[in-house]
Amino acid sequence: QRCARVVVAALEAMQGELVGHEEELGRIDAVAGDGDHGRGMAKGISAAVDAAREAVARGSGAATVLGAAGDSWAARAGGTSGVLWGAALRSFGARLSDQAQPAPADVAAAARAGLEAIQRLGEAKPGDKTMVDAFLPFVDALDESLRDGVGLAEAWTGAADLSAEAAVATAALRPRLGRARPLAERSVGTPDAGATSFALCVRAVAPFLA
Ligand code: ADP
Ligand code: MG
Ligand code: MG
Repeated sequence: QRCARVVVAALEAMQGELVGHEEELGRIDAVAGDGDHGRGMAKGISAAVDAAREAVARGSGAATVLGAAGDSWAARAGGTSGVLWGAALRSFGARLSDQAQPAPADVAAAARAGLEAIQRLGEAKPGDKTMVDAFLPFVDALDESLRDGVGLAEAWTGAADLSAEAAVATAALRPRLGRARPLAERSVGTPDAGATSFALCVRAVAPFLA
């Protein structure tokens, strides 16, 4: 149950970060998309936090809490990113246990499973200008640091920094998927909204991995 409570605290930190950047994320999404990314992420994470708190109150462990949070996010956020984030959280949780505290390698494997769920559903490849462009460098950096013997919290923080740089770098790309695609040229010079919010989320979670 300690682990499940840490999950709730981490989701609450994500909520604070996303609600704090709601307007900015909406503005970024409005450049070539429909402008609802900030609203969608705020709604999704709030639904996820509510579901996670309820699951902990019922006595659920970390894996079950994350599954409930993911389902609620997907059901209530609306939009492409909501479905993808919901599936990612559920897949992340499915790699953890309700009883045992996960080892660092388990957390990295769970993060990779989250990315794979997003790619399975959305079929985005690197360079398509989606959240995958922030997520893939994140999991690669996490794996590499852990292999080098870096501790989980430090590895996650370093990977989150790289993810933020990768999100900024998506400004140079043209979207090949999603609602921004028809206005792809207009999007050049602005980073992808979903990549930007992904980097915010992993940064917010870092302090909970110590
Ligand atoms: P919608 O596009 O339905 O309005 P949002 O605005 O909430 O949904 O999310 C847009 C973000 O979703 C994009 O910036 C991009 O990062 C991500 N996205 C869109 N389509 C895909 C996809 N097929 N695979 C991965 N990510 C995607
Ligand atoms: Mg949108
Ligand atoms: Mg939309």
